[in-house]
Amino acid sequence: MAKLELRNLNKTYSPKVVPVKDVSLTVDNNEFLTLLGPSGCGKSTTLRMIAGLEEVTRGHILLGKEDITFKRPGDRNMAMVFQSYALYPHMTVYENLASGLKLKKVPRAEIKQRVAEVAEILGLEELLQRKPGQLSGGQRQRVAVGRALVRQAQVYLLDEPLSNLDALLRERVRADIKQIFAAQKVPVVYVTHDQTEAMTLSTKVAVLNNGYVQQLDPPARIYNYPANLFVAGFVGSPQMNLLTLPCQERYAVLGDFHIPLPDIPTVPAQIVLGIRPEHVRIAQAGDTHTIKGRVYLVENLGMHNLVSVSVGSSQTQALILRALLPTDQNWSNEEITLALPHQNIHWFDVESGDALVRRSESV
Ligand code: ADP
Ligand code: MG
Repeated sequence: MAKLELRNLNKTYSPKVVPVKDVSLTVDNNEFLTLLGPSGCGKSTTLRMIAGLEEVTRGHILLGKEDITFKRPGDRNMAMVFQSYALYPHMTVYENLASGLKLKKVPRAEIKQRVAEVAEILGLEELLQRKPGQLSGGQRQRVAVGRALVRQAQVYLLDEPLSNLDALLRERVRADIKQIFAAQKVPVVYVTHDQTEAMTLSTKVAVLNNGYVQQLDPPARIYNYPANLFVAGFVGSPQMNLLTLPCQERYAVLGDFHIPLPDIPTVPAQIVLGIRPEHVRIAQAGDTHTIKGRVYLVENLGMHNLVSVSVGSSQTQALILRALLPTDQNWSNEEITLALPHQNIHWFDVESGDALVRRSESV
């Protein structure tokens, strides 16, 4: 099977509406690539161009060595699952799965065999004679994925296929999708605004904002080494703490706390410090780099608490940390001492938003 490649792909609807800008990426035949970004960032437009449902304004789409930029959608051998998947309500599950193959005049025996295979993969064997109205949301979603799978396509494209499911079901079908496509050995492009889906499903994530690829990396790298402020703020829940701090000599200043700057050629007037909530710790004896703050909010998530702490002399800066706090005490307004482990601090340029130091290449 062939790899999919986008070269400087652009889509312009009008001079003011340019939803896709110079998107370049490759998806190998064992890769699951997710386009992740907020609503309106150009994910669906990119996917629809790959499928041939949207004209390419500039750039190229290649499948293997072949340039398919201008190929008709029907000749691309790609299968797409839409967010608002439509099953035929008057047809059984079997007929829904088979209808695309019937249209292509695939022999009846082969249709039967392929539907049986896909039904087995998706656990739909018992449901083949039911109509969509007699299925649960998750079962219907699996039929929609099944309609794409029976096609035996060269590329699979999925546009927010889980967004109509409730939370519990979404987790289950997500796990199904991961297993099913891991076995397919074809390029998969998956669109979502949900970072958990992107993190759990993908071998590679392209974070998009405003039509541009912000970072293209395996999920762990996206999380551990965000390339800029947008990625740092978009991936991670609760969000990474991001504080804009003044610099003095070789230190960033947060109240009385002086944090050594990374190794950068010139010391800027200001710098953005980033640290994830799970990396902020309540200080223990022996910690040297500590900062005092005051608790102003404790949210109990069961497994742990999210603790919001105001820090710095102006009391306008805040850090959120994940912690287990004893519940027999009222923590509101308590003074608390925090440690910010140096190895977990990210630094960003105030102007460009770019990460200032790329840590070691290994994740
Ligand atoms: P996403 O899928 O990331 O939410 P889309 O790719 O659907 O975003 O849309 C990206 C931008 O392109 C949006 O601002 C949207 O309004 C605009 N857009 C999408 N389709 C059209 C169209 N047919 N004509 C004009 N603008 C469009
Ligand atoms: Mg969309």
